[in-house]
Amino acid sequence: MLSGPSRHYCGHVTRAELPPPLQELIERSNRLGADRRNTNYGGGNTSAKGTVTDVVTAEDVAVMWVKGSGGDLGTLTVDGVSMLVLDRIRALKNAYVNTGQEDELHQLLDFCGLGPPGAAPSIDTSMHALLPACHVDHLHPDSVIALAASADGEALTNKIFGDEIGWVSWQRPGFDLALKIDAMRETQGALRGVVMGGHGLTTWAETSEDCEQLSLDVIRRVADFIERHGKAEPLGALRVGFGPLRADERRRRALALGPIIRGLASTDQSVVGHWLDSDEVLDFIGREATPRVAPLGTSCPDHFIRTKVRPLLLDLPTTATPDEQTARLRHLHAEYREEYRQYYDRHARPETPPMRGADPAIFLIPGVGMFSFGADPQTASVAGEFYINAINVIRGAEAVSTYTPVSEAEKFGVEYWMLEDLKLRRRPAPKSFTGRVAVVAVGAAAGVETAIGNAVVRVFEDAGAVVVVADKDEAGAVEAAVLEFGGVDIVVGPSHTHAVAAMIAQGSGGDVVRLASTKSTVAELAAELAEYGVRVNGINFDGDSDARAVAQAARALVDGSLAETTGLMIPIGRQQLIDDEEKDK
Ligand SMILES: [Zn+2]
Repeated sequence: MLSGPSRHYCGHVTRAELPPPLQELIERSNRLGADRRNTNYGGGNTSAKGTVTDVVTAEDVAVMWVKGSGGDLGTLTVDGVSMLVLDRIRALKNAYVNTGQEDELHQLLDFCGLGPPGAAPSIDTSMHALLPACHVDHLHPDSVIALAASADGEALTNKIFGDEIGWVSWQRPGFDLALKIDAMRETQGALRGVVMGGHGLTTWAETSEDCEQLSLDVIRRVADFIERHGKAEPLGALRVGFGPLRADERRRRALALGPIIRGLASTDQSVVGHWLDSDEVLDFIGREATPRVAPLGTSCPDHFIRTKVRPLLLDLPTTATPDEQTARLRHLHAEYREEYRQYYDRHARPETPPMRGADPAIFLIPGVGMFSFGADPQTASVAGEFYINAINVIRGAEAVSTYTPVSEAEKFGVEYWMLEDLKLRRRPAPKSFTGRVAVVAVGAAAGVETAIGNAVVRVFEDAGAVVVVADKDEAGAVEAAVLEFGGVDIVVGPSHTHAVAAMIAQGSGGDVVRLASTKSTVAELAAELAEYGVRVNGINFDGDSDARAVAQAARALVDGSLAETTGLMIPIGRQQLIDDEEKDK
């Protein structure tokens, strides 16, 4: 039935069957997205225009393929592309009256498709559609955003590109911005692209190859300009006492501070952390200008949605004692939350979505590195990656000018913009263990039969937990959990000491599920740890016990029917109604 290029509607096509412009688009996007200097993870979008045969009318239809909302250019496939009818999107011009209608217009994009809906169209879709060129790239390169977030970004853009690349001041992406850029193109004949203030770059060309070369050329020319004309040390000297510590000392401090910081970051909801001590991060934290520029926050909309409007910078030198650091972090965190609440109150309007968590997503610790947080390990490490993008932008902007991100009101507008809110809500709903880190003993060396340990790992992972397997000692596994994910909330196995130390530092309680223990040990531990909110329960089983039943019991103790109990020993199997002590009697 289906023939020709239209066959890709049903998603059963091979690469060779894709319409050529779509295939070129995917290949170009993958190449551009593979280099993080071209765009941040998940940032930017690309498009191509062409003709397909409508399977219903058998008529040719002019369409646009555009990367949908969310996905990453580097790994874009046909499933991540939306296909829209060009005439229909362009007809939205008639529906457009003023910027107040942006959100309604965006919803009309759902009525501009041909065939089954593909990926959700992004907020940049109308810009791609209104530009007549066959191929359009919209990217978030660090070098170009440095220009875009400079006090004199417009003058610098003119100086570098003349009338080839224009400047359009910051405004939220949408139909109004699309009209402005297209009007510039119409009146300025030589124009091949625009630097978008506080945001990024859009370029266009008739062939995919020309478009890609143009994007790369613009990015390289801006990077070269910053390199050649920028100050040698744009953020000033390294402050004494704030520079990088030795690698082993950084690790030691990250182990001690990680759980404390994660406890603070999890005040509103449990999050996992990611510690990064790369040279660029340590250098940035230690520079003279950082206490001035870090509070200005990040610039590109993509950056501040993931990193929060600004990071928390610890303002103590590396000579401060652990107690001084902890006290100061608690103080700065309380201050951050209060300021975030005020920021929300200052800008919220009746239709604004409710306040999201007020905790920072990025903590910068002199000498030690950056801790970034998110609901899962991937979100946490992407937040860190985006802050590195922000560091590159701040450094680049300060090298050639003065870093001047978009205003706080505009940042709030994007952070709480309905469309962004919808995008966040499209994410899968969190599971009951999302944001929690568990250390689970598995195998003879760790004192738990492999089948039992593996069953617990599976059940916990299915419930959304991040699981670190302790296949030897508990201490090593807890260290790994703290360094890789920020801390520990649950420990399952025959020992608990190191995990409990991390739980106490986090200050948010925790769960110990003792395997191979006695009733009296569990009861004693439960009483001892109650003041920290750490609950201790046990499961007794023998070689005949069903591994899955043990795992389900462990889950029920942490997040189920028994989640309020402490000091309980659950018997699983035939003989476990009698525990060791009773046998002794
Ligand atoms: Zn963008």
